[in-house]
Amino acid sequence: MTEADCVECGATLTLHDDYEIGEIVDCTTCGVELEVLDTEPPVLDEAPELAEDWGE
Ligand SMILES: [Zn+2]
Repeated sequence: MTEADCVECGATLTLHDDYEIGEIVDCTTCGVELEVLDTEPPVLDEAPELAEDWGE
């Protein structure tokens, strides 16, 4: 089991065993989407909004 900290709220996220770079994970605490930037050790950063354009 792998754990990483949410960059937004600091909550500890549990990553499944076969996560990979570029994967998007949701923080279950604050709901932000986080992108996996590295795996050894796990590095998360706030994901760019690729899927949805909120029409800024
Ligand atoms: Zn969070």
